[in-house]
Amino acid sequence: MAKTALITGISGQDGAYLAKTLLERGYRVVGTYRRTSAMPTNRLDELGVAQQVEFVDMELLEESNIRHVLQKLKPDEIYNLAAQSFVGLSFELPLYTCDVNAMGVLRLLEAVREACPEARLYQASTSEMFGKVQVVPQNERTPFCPRSPYAVAKLFAHWNVVNYREGYGLYACSGILFNHESPLRGLEFVTRKVTHGFARVALGLQDVLRVGNLEAKRDWGFAGEYVDGMWRMLQQDTPDDYVLATGRTTTVRDFVDGAAAAFGFALEWNGDGDSASGVDTKTGRTIIAVDPLLYRPTEVALLLGDASKAKAVLGWEAKTSLEELIQMMARADYDRVKTGLARA
Ligand code: NDP
Ligand code: GDP
Repeated sequence: MAKTALITGISGQDGAYLAKTLLERGYRVVGTYRRTSAMPTNRLDELGVAQQVEFVDMELLEESNIRHVLQKLKPDEIYNLAAQSFVGLSFELPLYTCDVNAMGVLRLLEAVREACPEARLYQASTSEMFGKVQVVPQNERTPFCPRSPYAVAKLFAHWNVVNYREGYGLYACSGILFNHESPLRGLEFVTRKVTHGFARVALGLQDVLRVGNLEAKRDWGFAGEYVDGMWRMLQQDTPDDYVLATGRTTTVRDFVDGAAAAFGFALEWNGDGDSASGVDTKTGRTIIAVDPLLYRPTEVALLLGDASKAKAVLGWEAKTSLEELIQMMARADYDRVKTGLARA
């Protein structure tokens, strides 16, 4: 009989790619969404899998709701992707972020323990937990030092996953994933903001794109590959925690340069720090500028992952280069903006 996978946060970027890969592997896929006036299936539609997914209404803030879903479904595997996932917003909504990203996971763990203790659980942890990094590159043994309400909440969830595994014998894994992007990435994240913004500039719909800290460094991979790593974590003899990363780090500025080139701009930077701006020397127009209002109260300056454990144990490694990722995102956003589709 087909295994049943429950994906929380199926409407998000990773939910869509994971649903596709699990369906291809023959799973029955049930996705949770938050009830709104419209069913948010746009990303699943883009991957052509919305019709094959079953949906249940689930809110991580509501304990009884989670328990009822698990009691009814008795899933074999649970992928907890649901979260307030934007670091920037977590500074504006720290309590809410903590309620969803920290307490929400504890609610889920308690419900799993009671309703379906045999289920295997994947928790979407994050490289943001390394924060003010103590070691470069970061792996599963690197000390954590979170720098945002988002990261603090995710770290609480991470330790609970470890404790429920060790204390109650749950098959629970924490995937410490470095940034992963795609044409389905939310528009608020810097990579997608840049490719979508440059598509608008290229098509004459916008003059200037405003961004924050250009010097932050991130280890950016392709989301379509990272969901395969999540699945692999749940197929082992024993549960464990794994870093997934590319092993290459790049500044936001270099990402912007790559995206500009992908759109055919000849970008040249003027000034530095708060007053930096980029001119397309082909037209003489300023197309990007730093806006200090977009800086964060505390920043994570450098993330660089060491995924050698995932390679050795799971046989997983990132394959898509940053250049390929930028091309993929730039092309998708150009086509969407041209045809009037702002959102994936
Ligand atoms: P998205 O923001 O694209 O998706 C988040 C999902 O969570 C959405 O489906 C959203 O639903 C749902 N959600 C938010 N709040 C709640 C809630 N209170 N109850 C139920 N569902 C909720 O994130 P990604 O797909 O990019 O990321 C998936 C997970 O991986 C997240 O937990 C994220 O923090 C984590 N992560 C992501 C990384 C990345 O680079 N992408 C890196 C490391 C970790 P709705 O559509 O209704 O808002
Ligand atoms: P994060 O690593 O999960 O916070 O992913 P983001 O894509 O939100 O941010 C990555 C880095 O880009 C952070 O260091 C941000 O401060 C930096 N950044 C610079 N400008 C922007 C911007 O306009 N939007 C966002 N989201 N991040 C920006």
